[in-house]
This record gives sequence, structure tokens and C-alpha cells, in this order.
Amino acid sequence: MSRRPIRRCTRCTRDRPHRALGLCDSCYTRRPGARRYDAPIGAAPGAPGVLRSAEVIAGRVEDYRELTREMRLSKKAAAARLGISYKTALRYEQRLRAEAAA
Ligand SMILES: [Zn+2]
Repeated sequence: MSRRPIRRCTRCTRDRPHRALGLCDSCYTRRPGARRYDAPIGAAPGAPGVLRSAEVIAGRVEDYRELTREMRLSKKAAAARLGISYKTALRYEQRLRAEAAA
């Protein structure tokens, strides 16, 4: 049994076990400014992981183009070389096709 007191949540107004800040578990988890552990790695400035600024991505797409078009690497091999996922490689493909069509 939960030892936490049942309180009316200040957000959803349901009577539920109190978590903190006057909120129930789900409202506390979703409160504005809450840390989101499913957020992409590297999304925050200075965070580790693959960089995501527009110039960096454009440079990586260009590297990907060279690896696949000039060096004739497979999508999978090029993705491994650049440290991106296969899914991202597919997004780069889409981008290169769109640029080629423009
Ligand atoms: Zn709530």
C-alpha cells in the first residue's frame, strides 16, 4: 500500500497519491520543465552525442553523399562510418534526392 497521502492534484484535479508540488505522478512527470529521458541525445547545448546544428548536419549529409556516391559505400556502411543510425541514413537519402530534384 502506498504511504503517500491521497490528495486532489492541482492540475488534473483527480484524487490520487501525491507525488510533489501538489501534483500526482503523471502530472508531475509531465509538468513543464520536467526532464524528458526520451528526448534525443545531444539536443541540449553542450550535451554529449551527435551534434545537431544545421551546419553540422549539412556537413554530415555532404560526407554521406561522398561515401555513398563517390566511394560507393552501402547505406549501412556509410551510416556506421559517420556514427549515424541507418534510419538517419535513409533521411539523408531523402534529403539528397530532394536536393537533386530541386
Ligand atoms: Zn494530476
